[in-house]
Amino acid sequence: MKPVTIVGGGLAGLTLAIGLRQSGVPVTLYEAGSYPRHRVCGEFISGRGQAVLSTLGLLPLLESCGMRQAQTAAWFQSGRSSAIRSELPEPAWCVSRHPLDLRLAEEFVRLGGHLEQRHRWTGVPKDEGIVMASGRRVQSSADGWRWWALKTHVSNVSMEADLEMHLEPDGYVGLCRLSDGVVNVCGLFRSGSPQPDLARTWRRWLQGSQNSVLHSRFEDATFLDGTFASVAGIALQPQKAAEQSEVRIGDALTLIPPVSGNGMSMALESAQLALDPIRAFSQSECSWTEAHRQIAQTCDTTFSRRLRWAGRLQWALFHRVPKSILWSMASRQPALLRMGFALTR
Ligand SMILES: Cc1cc2nc3c(=O)[nH]c(=O)nc-3n(C[C@H](O)[C@H](O)[C@H](O)COP(=O)(O)OP(=O)(O)OC[C@H]3O[C@@H](n4cnc5c(N)ncnc54)[C@H](O)[C@@H]3O)c2cc1C
Repeated sequence: MKPVTIVGGGLAGLTLAIGLRQSGVPVTLYEAGSYPRHRVCGEFISGRGQAVLSTLGLLPLLESCGMRQAQTAAWFQSGRSSAIRSELPEPAWCVSRHPLDLRLAEEFVRLGGHLEQRHRWTGVPKDEGIVMASGRRVQSSADGWRWWALKTHVSNVSMEADLEMHLEPDGYVGLCRLSDGVVNVCGLFRSGSPQPDLARTWRRWLQGSQNSVLHSRFEDATFLDGTFASVAGIALQPQKAAEQSEVRIGDALTLIPPVSGNGMSMALESAQLALDPIRAFSQSECSWTEAHRQIAQTCDTTFSRRLRWAGRLQWALFHRVPKSILWSMASRQPALLRMGFALTR
């Protein structure tokens, strides 16, 4: 079988690597970092990615990482005392990326894959047999705004629902219950001026405005050392796979706005969509160009609707009038929240 090289060992790259090894395809995976590590992520897996993990037989692995199910969500807005509560359309899975990525990497190696950690790949992405799973594009600013994201784990936080979303004037912060009383706190923010000094101010950003419900959540909280991570230069403009000259999956293809909680699912799904065409290429049943075409076509068809809806929702949350209209509609009709989750899955 022809060998395949995967660049990037996040969720997309590791899932594809495991799926290919399960069919005996020779795979080398390059990861610039090392495992385990904390990632900027809400650690909330919703949508169809769950089925991918089941199909690949990875559920026991997730359970061994302390996965817990989330059934309920509550939304808050700073400056408003009332919350909007709703059941999730289907249970989501909450799991820390710290053990998850490590166990997936171990599984890939157990299946006979070749893993190069701490190795930044610098080849030609367009070459035959190369899959780019190298994560999100970096864009210093978009429409005059700089975007950045922060994540930490805390304990001693009491929450009203398994998942809480807190809307702030220039960002949103998600709280997600993980196992053992640990809560993931992850936020996306924007600023029109140069990015603030996050090394000094990151807790302030994640704790929200004074007097907000979000702020009150941290009254007795303990921030867990070593779990903080940050990224800057986030590009939220969707990209079409058919317009790329190389095979791309996960965030390397496109990042769905984080408010959807669907990025990990898209990483998993795009890995699964790439499996059959790449297997066929490896067995010389089709050319790399044909495999690329098939992957791009199925990814674009599968993801276009949810990218569109997630983009609209993200836009509304950062514009005062649409945000306020959405809030009053969802306050009267909380089922709209379930619909929002359903449209972005
Ligand atoms: C604020 C925020 C909150 C989020 N919350 C959620 C959530 O709750 N639920 C959800 O489903 N999604 C969420 N996401 C999105 C989710 O985290 C990503 O969509 C998902 O992790 C993408 O996985 P990936 O494998 O494509 O990329 P990544 O996980 O970024 O992995 C890419 C890997 O490639 C490596 N790499 C890059 N270049 C090279 C190179 N040249 N050589 C070798 N290695 C390289 C990097 O080191 C990295 O490990 C959130 C995102 C943000 C920004």
